[in-house]
Amino acid sequence: MNERQPEELSPSLRQPEMPVTRWGDPAHAAPLPDGVRDLVGLVFSLGDTPAKADVAVPAPALAADLLDGLRAVVGADNVVLDDTARRQRTRGKSTPDLLRQRSGDLSDAPDVVVRPGDHDDVQAVLDYAAEHRIAVVPFGGGTSVTGGLIADRDGFAGVLSLDLGRMRSLLSLDPISATATLGPGLRGPEAEALLGEHGLMLGHLPQSFEFATIGGFAATRSSGQASAGYGRFDSMVVGLRAATPKGEVRLGGTSPSNACGPDLRELFLGSEGAFGVITEVTVRVRPVPEVKQYEGWQWPSFEAGADAMRTLAQGDLLPTVLRLSDENETAINLARPDAIGGEGAGGCLMIVGYEGTPSATAAKKAAVTEVLTGLGGTPLGAEPGTAWAAGRFNAPYLRDSLLDVGVLVETLETVTFWSNRERLYGAVKSALEGALGEGTMVLCHVSHVYATGCSLYFTVASAGGEQPLERWLVAKKAANDAIVASGASITHHHAVGTDHRDWLAPEIGDLGVDVLRAVKRELDPTGILNPGVLIP
Ligand SMILES: Cc1cc2nc3c(=O)[nH]c(=O)nc-3n(C[C@H](O)[C@H](O)[C@H](O)COP(=O)(O)OP(=O)(O)OC[C@H]3O[C@@H](n4cnc5c(N)ncnc54)[C@H](O)[C@@H]3O)c2cc1C
Repeated sequence: MNERQPEELSPSLRQPEMPVTRWGDPAHAAPLPDGVRDLVGLVFSLGDTPAKADVAVPAPALAADLLDGLRAVVGADNVVLDDTARRQRTRGKSTPDLLRQRSGDLSDAPDVVVRPGDHDDVQAVLDYAAEHRIAVVPFGGGTSVTGGLIADRDGFAGVLSLDLGRMRSLLSLDPISATATLGPGLRGPEAEALLGEHGLMLGHLPQSFEFATIGGFAATRSSGQASAGYGRFDSMVVGLRAATPKGEVRLGGTSPSNACGPDLRELFLGSEGAFGVITEVTVRVRPVPEVKQYEGWQWPSFEAGADAMRTLAQGDLLPTVLRLSDENETAINLARPDAIGGEGAGGCLMIVGYEGTPSATAAKKAAVTEVLTGLGGTPLGAEPGTAWAAGRFNAPYLRDSLLDVGVLVETLETVTFWSNRERLYGAVKSALEGALGEGTMVLCHVSHVYATGCSLYFTVASAGGEQPLERWLVAKKAANDAIVASGASITHHHAVGTDHRDWLAPEIGDLGVDVLRAVKRELDPTGILNPGVLIP
C-alpha cells in the first residue's frame, strides 16, 4: 500500500516536543487552578520552585570519527548534536526525572540523537554501534516513568538516543483479517488518524496517549484506559519486526496464533529496548465505534465497588471503560481533574463507558446496569462520565503546576489477584504514609480489571520540602517493598526500566533473571542495547 505519514492527513496532529522539565504541550501549561490551590494550601505550605532555565547539557562524549561514521550510516541530517535535541531526550517523565531536570541535572543526556528512517537504517546503526561499543537507547515518545531511557554509560564510547520519530507510517492494512502494520514512531493520535481514514481504530488510550508511541507501547506492555473492552496493548499485537545486533527478527507474521513452541513475540513485548529495536508492529484493529457513552456510578465503599467490578469481569460482562476511585480520590474529584476542589460525589465514584454499535452498547449497558443496580450501586447519569472523558489527559499538566508550588506529586501502580486486593491496598497506603509523614494524601483507583484480579493505581501528594527527590525515593522504595511483601506484581503497565529493576528478581526468580540474561547475550552480545534497563 501507499505508505501514509500522519502529516499528510493534518499537520496539527503532531504535538510539539515536550520541554525537559514538564509534561506535554508547553502551550497548555497553566498555573494551579484556584480550587486546587485552596485545597492543597490547607494541607501543604506552598512555595515557589521554578525550574532552572536553559541549563547546558554536558558536552557530547562521542569522538568525532564515530560521529562521522554515524553520518555515513544514516546521513548527516539525521545525526543531531544540538543541545535542544539532546536535552529533550534526557530521561523520561516520572516525577524524579522532572525533579532532576528542574534542578539542572542533565547528566543523563545522550551524546547524540540519531534518527533512522526505516528498519534497514536501524539495523545499520546497531551494527555500527556494536562494532564501536556505543550504547543505544531506543526513544519513542520519551514518556517512560520508570527510568527506561537512562542508560548506564560505563564501558561505552558514548550514548546514542535512537529517535524513531521518522518511522511514522501505516505500512500495511489487511481489512479482512482486521490487522494493520504500524511504524514504531507513530504517536497515539497519529496511529488512530491513519487507521481512522479506513474506518478503523486501535482503541489504546493510556493517559500518555498524545505523546507515547506504538513502539513504546509494545516495548513496555502498556495498558490503556479502555483496557476492559479492548485489552492491554500486548494483547493487540499480532506480530512484530525487530532489529537486533545479531540481525533481524520477524515474529507472528504467519497466523493469529499457533503451537510453534513458546511464543517468541512475548520476548520482545516488554523488552524495553534491551533485546532489540521494534521497527514494525502488526496490531489487531476494529471498526471505529458509532457510539461512545460514559457514565458515573456511586458506591458506598471501595470494597463494594471493587466487588461489583469483579462480578462484571467474572460474568464476562465488562464494558469498554471501567475504573473505580477510592473514597479519598472521589472526595477530591481526581477522576475529573477540571473539577478538583469542587464538591465530590461522596462514597466511591465508578466510571463506566460503552463503545461500539448502537445495538451492542445498548445490550451491554442494560446487562451491566442490572448487575450494578442489584449490587447496590447508584447511577449518577452521564455527567460524571462525560466530564472524566473530557479531562482524561489533563492530570499530568496538574502535576507540573503542583511541582511548581513545591508539592511533591507522583503516581505508582501494581496488580494482584482479587483475593489479595484489600491487603495490597492497605500495605501500599501505609508504606507511603509512613515514609512521607503526616499530611500526605494517598489516593487510589482500580484502573484495569481482569476476571482474576485488578491493578491499583496510586496518586501521592505530599509537601516537597527541601529535598523532594530524596523524599520520593525513600517513599517509592517503601511502596515497592510493600508490594513485593504483599505478593503483588511490581508493575502492571509502567514496566521495569531502571526504577523497578531491583524488585524484578523476587518476582521472576533468579533463574528467570538468568533466562533474561541469556536472551540478552544471544541477541545483544556486546550489551549495547539500553544497558542497565530491565535486566538486574
Ligand atoms: C503522564 C503519563 C501518563 C502515563 N499513563 C500511562 C498509562 O495510562 N498506561 C501505560 O501503560 N503507561 C502510561 N505511562 C507510561 C508510558 O507512557 C508508557 O510506558 C509508554 O508505553 C511509553 O511509550 P513511549 O513511546 O513514550 O516510550 P519511551 O518512553 O520512549 O520508551 C519506553 C521504553 O521502551 C523503549 N523503547 C521505546 N521504543 C522502542 C522500540 N521501538 N523498540 C524497542 N524499545 C523501545 C525505550 O528505550 C524505553 O526503555 C504514562 C506516562 C506518563 C508520563
